[in-house]
Amino acid sequence: TAQTPDRDTAVFDLIQQEQERQLSGLELIASENFTSAAVREAQGSVLTNKYAEGYPGKRWYGGCEVVDEVERLAIERVKQLFQAEYANVQPHSGSSANLAVYNALIQPGDVVLGMDLSHGGHLTHGNPANFSGLRYSVVGYKVNPDTELIDMDVVRQLAREHQPKMIIAGASAYSRIIDFAAFREIADEVGALLFADVAHIAGLIAAGQHPNALPHAHVVASTTHKTLRGPRGGIILTNDAEIATKIDRAVFPGYQGGPLEHVIAAKAVAFGEALRPEFREYAAQVIRNAQAFASAMQNLGYRIVSGGTDNHLFIVDLRPQGLNGSKATRLLDANHITISKSTLPYDTEKLMHGGGIRIGTPAVTTRGMVESDMPVIAGLIDRALKGEAVKDEVHAFARRFPLP
Ligand code: PLP
Repeated sequence: TAQTPDRDTAVFDLIQQEQERQLSGLELIASENFTSAAVREAQGSVLTNKYAEGYPGKRWYGGCEVVDEVERLAIERVKQLFQAEYANVQPHSGSSANLAVYNALIQPGDVVLGMDLSHGGHLTHGNPANFSGLRYSVVGYKVNPDTELIDMDVVRQLAREHQPKMIIAGASAYSRIIDFAAFREIADEVGALLFADVAHIAGLIAAGQHPNALPHAHVVASTTHKTLRGPRGGIILTNDAEIATKIDRAVFPGYQGGPLEHVIAAKAVAFGEALRPEFREYAAQVIRNAQAFASAMQNLGYRIVSGGTDNHLFIVDLRPQGLNGSKATRLLDANHITISKSTLPYDTEKLMHGGGIRIGTPAVTTRGMVESDMPVIAGLIDRALKGEAVKDEVHAFARRFPLP
């Protein structure tokens, strides 16, 4: 493809294609969202040109007086959003935020108690191929087989038995309220640190639609790009001065060099948006949509893990339909309905396929969809899963809702 010094049409065309894909499809991946034009503008700004190793007021490079203000603004806003006393806004992603938390607070070989990955935990909570599983001795708690909810008695029993240095509360595929206060009680009983990974629910917490992990957790990490609707990135929060110092050191010089000040600026914009009353309403609508969507799926005969949702996502068990996560992803992808496959608690399908799918409403809610739109999407999913071609209907429906 033609390329001139100031016009890279090859890349530009691909960006146009991606914009078209996002506009004409239905985005139901629970960890995705659509950022505002202001967030994207900040991220695409000249701030990307600046090196700023260190922290505001304590940099290794000159010329940081403006990015210092950018980073201070992001820190102040995120502290206000989560009622936190200290914040580090430099982690490049959720995984690197989690890496900093581990590095700052525990030693290789230490025991960590986290949610079993096939029950909803994240890669960085102990997957054997991830640094967390390779470097630490991770014990997983599973959900209750009958209720499919986190069972605090089981967590307590495992904590007493294994005496972890750190307990992780937080998940990538759990549709119910997480009781951070109950986790803290258990952590205190066994002398463990409580680490809340709120990546998925951060936007709901910021909007007062899910209980805050602070002040219960000793440390909280999150991504900024899921329900929080910011640029891709990570943050770490705490109310403890000593932990804050350790976290700052673990991020820089611990494992990162220059921070991404353009992304930090975009984070500041997103935090500013999340502080507005409209964001509260947005997050409430995300949850109402997820509940309406889960009910619509149930009405079509699908089993929802734990029987429903309190947050922005739910998991559909597709085994009764003779499907698995991989087959369903293929069928839906072909119709431009984008979901992620999911393992189920006590899954009987192979791990690589998963017995179900995870559906989330943050992105479609940003486009302006409401409860009455959810049965329409559920109907399209049902027909696509039965092998019908519904792509044209998906496009016609989706295009009624503008992208920000
Ligand atoms: N923590 C949780 C609970 C997540 O769900 C995710 C992402 O899916 C992460 C951490 C990691 O975030 P990232 O993909 O930015 O590394």
